[in-house]
Amino acid sequence: MPLTNKAPLKQNSLVIGLLVSLSTFTYGSTNAHIHGQADFTVAMEANLVHMQLTLPAGDAIGFEHNPTNQQEQQKLNDAKAKLQEVSTLFVLNTQQCEIVESIVEFGTDNALKGSFESNSMLQDVGRDEHEHGHQHNHDHTDKHASTESKHQHNNIIAQYMLECSSADALKNMSVNLFDIFPAISTINAQWIAPHGQGGQTLSANTRQLNLQ
Ligand SMILES: [Zn+2]
Repeated sequence: MPLTNKAPLKQNSLVIGLLVSLSTFTYGSTNAHIHGQADFTVAMEANLVHMQLTLPAGDAIGFEHNPTNQQEQQKLNDAKAKLQEVSTLFVLNTQQCEIVESIVEFGTDNALKGSFESNSMLQDVGRDEHEHGHQHNHDHTDKHASTESKHQHNNIIAQYMLECSSADALKNMSVNLFDIFPAISTINAQWIAPHGQGGQTLSANTRQLNLQ
Protein backbone atom coordinates (compact mmCIF):
# COMPACT_ATOMS: atom_id res chain seq x y z
CA MET A 1 0.00 0.00 0.00
CA PRO A 2 1.26 3.50 -0.77
CA LEU A 3 1.69 4.45 2.86
CA THR A 4 4.70 2.21 3.16
CA ASN A 5 6.57 4.18 0.58
CA LYS A 6 5.49 7.57 1.69
CA ALA A 7 5.80 7.13 5.41
CA PRO A 8 8.90 5.63 6.94
CA LEU A 9 8.26 3.27 9.79
CA LYS A 10 9.94 5.61 12.20
CA GLN A 11 7.25 8.19 11.61
CA ASN A 12 4.51 5.69 12.08
CA SER A 13 5.98 4.65 15.38
CA LEU A 14 5.94 8.22 16.56
CA VAL A 15 2.36 8.62 15.54
CA ILE A 16 1.51 5.43 17.34
CA GLY A 17 3.05 6.78 20.49
CA LEU A 18 1.19 10.04 20.18
CA LEU A 19 -2.10 8.33 19.63
CA VAL A 20 -1.67 6.05 22.59
CA SER A 21 -0.95 9.12 24.68
CA LEU A 22 -3.97 10.82 23.24
CA SER A 23 -6.11 7.81 23.92
CA THR A 24 -5.27 7.89 27.60
CA PHE A 25 -5.46 11.65 27.70
CA THR A 26 -8.82 11.77 26.04
CA TYR A 27 -10.73 8.89 27.39
CA GLY A 28 -9.19 7.83 30.66
CA SER A 29 -10.63 4.77 32.28
CA THR A 30 -14.30 5.47 31.98
CA ASN A 31 -15.73 6.18 28.60
CA ALA A 32 -19.15 5.96 27.16
CA HIS A 33 -20.66 7.62 24.22
CA ILE A 34 -23.01 10.44 24.95
CA HIS A 35 -25.83 10.97 22.55
CA GLY A 36 -25.56 14.21 20.68
CA GLN A 37 -21.81 14.23 21.11
CA ALA A 38 -19.12 12.99 18.79
CA ASP A 39 -15.51 12.47 19.69
CA PHE A 40 -12.75 13.60 17.40
CA THR A 41 -9.08 12.93 17.85
CA VAL A 42 -6.24 14.25 15.73
CA ALA A 43 -2.67 13.09 16.03
CA MET A 44 -0.01 14.87 14.01
CA GLU A 45 3.55 13.78 13.48
CA ALA A 46 5.76 15.16 10.76
CA ASN A 47 3.71 15.14 7.58
CA LEU A 48 1.20 12.54 8.73
CA VAL A 49 -2.07 13.26 10.42
CA HIS A 50 -4.32 10.57 11.80
CA MET A 51 -7.87 11.45 12.66
CA GLN A 52 -10.67 9.47 14.22
CA LEU A 53 -14.26 10.52 14.44
CA THR A 54 -16.58 8.53 16.68
CA LEU A 55 -20.28 9.16 16.89
CA PRO A 56 -23.10 7.26 18.53
CA ALA A 57 -24.82 5.26 15.85
CA GLY A 58 -28.20 6.41 17.11
CA ASP A 59 -27.36 10.00 16.25
CA ALA A 60 -26.40 9.13 12.71
CA ILE A 61 -28.89 6.45 11.73
CA GLY A 62 -31.51 6.36 14.44
CA PHE A 63 -30.65 2.99 15.94
CA GLU A 64 -27.71 1.29 17.53
CA HIS A 65 -28.39 -2.38 17.03
CA ASN A 66 -27.01 -4.32 14.13
CA PRO A 67 -29.14 -3.70 11.05
CA THR A 68 -31.96 -6.21 10.93
CA ASN A 69 -33.48 -5.39 7.58
CA GLN A 70 -32.65 -3.83 4.27
CA GLN A 71 -33.96 -0.43 5.22
CA GLU A 72 -31.71 -0.26 8.25
CA GLN A 73 -28.77 -1.52 6.25
CA GLN A 74 -29.39 1.21 3.71
CA LYS A 75 -29.42 3.87 6.40
CA LEU A 76 -26.11 2.60 7.65
CA ASN A 77 -24.64 2.52 4.17
CA ASP A 78 -25.80 6.07 3.55
CA ALA A 79 -24.21 7.29 6.76
CA LYS A 80 -20.96 5.57 5.93
CA ALA A 81 -20.96 7.11 2.48
CA LYS A 82 -21.46 10.59 3.93
CA LEU A 83 -18.50 10.12 6.21
CA GLN A 84 -16.41 9.21 3.17
CA GLU A 85 -17.12 12.57 1.57
CA VAL A 86 -14.05 13.98 3.16
CA SER A 87 -13.84 17.25 1.28
CA THR A 88 -17.32 18.10 2.51
CA LEU A 89 -16.74 16.90 6.01
CA PHE A 90 -13.36 18.52 6.59
CA VAL A 91 -12.28 21.88 5.25
CA LEU A 92 -8.58 22.31 5.81
CA ASN A 93 -6.72 25.61 5.95
CA THR A 94 -4.29 24.38 3.34
CA GLN A 95 -4.21 22.54 0.08
CA GLN A 96 -0.89 20.99 1.03
CA CYS A 97 -2.64 18.17 2.85
CA GLU A 98 -4.84 15.53 1.39
CA ILE A 99 -6.74 12.65 2.87
CA VAL A 100 -5.09 9.52 1.55
CA GLU A 101 -7.11 6.92 3.41
CA SER A 102 -10.46 6.70 5.09
CA ILE A 103 -12.29 3.85 6.74
CA VAL A 104 -15.75 3.95 8.25
CA GLU A 105 -16.99 1.17 10.48
CA PHE A 106 -20.07 0.40 12.49
CA GLY A 107 -19.78 -1.37 15.79
CA THR A 108 -18.30 -1.29 19.20
CA ASP A 109 -14.71 -0.20 19.26
CA ASN A 110 -13.58 -3.69 20.05
CA ALA A 111 -15.19 -4.90 16.88
CA LEU A 112 -12.88 -2.65 14.90
CA LYS A 113 -9.76 -4.66 15.56
CA GLY A 114 -7.75 -4.91 12.40
CA SER A 115 -9.90 -2.51 10.48
CA PHE A 116 -7.20 0.03 9.85
CA GLU A 117 -4.19 -1.62 8.37
CA SER A 118 -0.87 -0.70 9.95
CA ASN A 119 -2.54 1.56 12.46
CA SER A 120 -3.25 -0.62 15.43
CA MET A 121 -3.01 2.35 17.73
CA LEU A 122 -6.18 3.78 16.37
CA GLN A 123 -8.05 0.82 17.73
CA ASP A 124 -7.00 1.92 21.19
CA VAL A 125 -8.33 5.39 20.72
CA GLY A 126 -11.77 5.45 22.16
CA ARG A 127 -11.77 1.82 23.19
CA ASP A 128 -14.93 1.48 25.11
CA GLU A 129 -16.02 -1.09 27.62
CA HIS A 130 -19.55 -0.05 26.83
CA GLU A 131 -20.62 0.27 30.37
CA HIS A 132 -22.96 2.98 29.36
CA GLY A 133 -24.12 5.24 32.09
CA HIS A 134 -25.60 7.81 29.82
CA GLN A 135 -29.19 8.54 29.28
CA HIS A 136 -30.87 7.75 26.06
CA ASN A 137 -33.57 9.63 24.36
CA HIS A 138 -34.68 6.73 22.30
CA ASP A 139 -36.76 3.84 23.52
CA HIS A 140 -34.99 0.98 25.09
CA THR A 141 -37.22 -1.88 24.24
CA ASP A 142 -34.79 -4.33 25.70
CA LYS A 143 -34.27 -2.36 28.85
CA HIS A 144 -35.55 -5.12 31.04
CA ALA A 145 -34.40 -8.00 28.96
CA SER A 146 -31.53 -8.60 31.37
CA THR A 147 -28.75 -10.86 30.30
CA GLU A 148 -30.25 -12.56 27.33
CA SER A 149 -30.29 -9.42 25.23
CA LYS A 150 -27.66 -6.92 26.21
CA HIS A 151 -28.41 -3.53 24.76
CA GLN A 152 -25.95 -2.58 22.08
CA HIS A 153 -24.50 0.88 21.93
CA ASN A 154 -22.73 0.81 18.65
CA ASN A 155 -20.77 3.68 17.28
CA ILE A 156 -19.93 4.77 13.82
CA ILE A 157 -16.21 5.24 13.72
CA ALA A 158 -14.43 6.94 10.87
CA GLN A 159 -10.68 6.92 10.59
CA TYR A 160 -8.77 9.15 8.23
CA MET A 161 -5.15 9.57 7.33
CA LEU A 162 -3.85 12.78 5.90
CA GLU A 163 -0.56 13.38 4.25
CA CYS A 164 0.86 16.87 4.04
CA SER A 165 3.64 18.12 1.83
CA SER A 166 5.12 19.97 4.77
CA ALA A 167 4.90 19.21 8.46
CA ASP A 168 3.45 22.50 9.58
CA ALA A 169 1.00 23.00 6.75
CA LEU A 170 -2.08 21.98 8.70
CA LYS A 171 -3.04 24.73 11.11
CA ASN A 172 -6.76 24.36 11.45
CA MET A 173 -9.77 22.64 9.98
CA SER A 174 -13.48 23.08 9.99
CA VAL A 175 -15.51 19.99 10.81
CA ASN A 176 -18.87 20.02 9.09
CA LEU A 177 -20.33 17.01 10.82
CA PHE A 178 -23.23 19.08 12.14
CA ASP A 179 -24.60 19.62 8.67
CA ILE A 180 -24.47 15.95 7.88
CA PHE A 181 -25.88 14.61 11.14
CA PRO A 182 -27.99 17.30 12.83
CA ALA A 183 -28.48 15.10 15.89
CA ILE A 184 -24.85 15.79 16.72
CA SER A 185 -24.72 19.03 18.67
CA THR A 186 -21.17 18.96 19.98
CA ILE A 187 -17.84 17.42 19.08
CA ASN A 188 -15.36 16.76 21.81
CA ALA A 189 -12.13 17.36 19.89
CA GLN A 190 -8.64 16.57 21.09
CA TRP A 191 -5.40 16.96 19.21
CA ILE A 192 -1.84 16.11 19.87
CA ALA A 193 1.30 17.05 17.99
CA PRO A 194 5.01 17.43 18.67
CA HIS A 195 4.45 21.11 19.36
CA GLY A 196 1.72 20.55 21.90
CA GLN A 197 -1.78 19.33 22.45
CA GLY A 198 -5.15 20.81 23.01
CA GLY A 199 -8.86 20.30 23.11
CA GLN A 200 -11.92 22.13 21.96
CA THR A 201 -15.62 21.63 22.04
CA LEU A 202 -16.97 22.22 18.58
CA SER A 203 -20.53 23.09 17.71
CA ALA A 204 -22.41 24.10 14.61
CA ASN A 205 -21.49 27.72 15.25
CA THR A 206 -17.92 27.02 16.35
CA ARG A 207 -16.69 24.32 14.08
CA GLN A 208 -13.11 25.32 13.45
CA LEU A 209 -10.54 23.25 15.27
CA ASN A 210 -7.25 25.03 15.82
CA LEU A 211 -4.24 22.80 15.80
CA GLN A 212 -1.55 25.15 17.01
ZN1 LIG B 1 -25.88 4.33 23.43
